[in-house]
Amino acid sequence: MAFQLPALPYEHNALEPHVDTLTMQIHHGKHHQAYVTNLNNAVAGTPAESMSIEDICKNISQYPMPVRNNGGGHYNHSLFWTIMGPGKGGAPAGELAAAIDAAFGSFDNFKTQFAQAAATRFGSGWAWLIVGADGKLAITSTPNQDNPLMDIAEVKGTPILGLDVWEHAYYLHYQNRRPDYVTAFWNVVNWDEVARRLQAAR
Ligand code: MN
Repeated sequence: MAFQLPALPYEHNALEPHVDTLTMQIHHGKHHQAYVTNLNNAVAGTPAESMSIEDICKNISQYPMPVRNNGGGHYNHSLFWTIMGPGKGGAPAGELAAAIDAAFGSFDNFKTQFAQAAATRFGSGWAWLIVGADGKLAITSTPNQDNPLMDIAEVKGTPILGLDVWEHAYYLHYQNRRPDYVTAFWNVVNWDEVARRLQAAR
């Protein structure tokens, strides 16, 4: 198989009580696995089988919808698991903290604007913190399993933090209360990984 489900870098219950165990089990083991399986089916026998998921995303307009939906789903979730972790949260430091202050005025302002992007993304999608072509940070959101790497994205850049706001990401624990899920997310963000991704993007 060209693409594989990455192992979760912590236990399914590690993000309790902010992200519940059953949601993590279904989200990683069922939803992400389905994106991987359907992506492999969609690229079988094509050159995309041997390409990186990043390169596929960057030229996604050249591919049929099943590759866009499932390739995006694979990329987005692979990032999502790594930017969370047990015993995380708190605030960013160093270059990342400076970049957030430069772009948004303060960490609190950043959190407010990011939460707004997550809350107002209609239906299913993602909120993102990205590094733009100018090297500066920006907040954006995408529908469905699109992402800012994609050439069809309204706002393009390299994602360094993403929040899944599909109902499957929170409904079991939070039901219709998406804002509560977004608030809880700050308790599990792995800022060291976000900072690493900023360095790599620049
Ligand atoms: Mn999801």
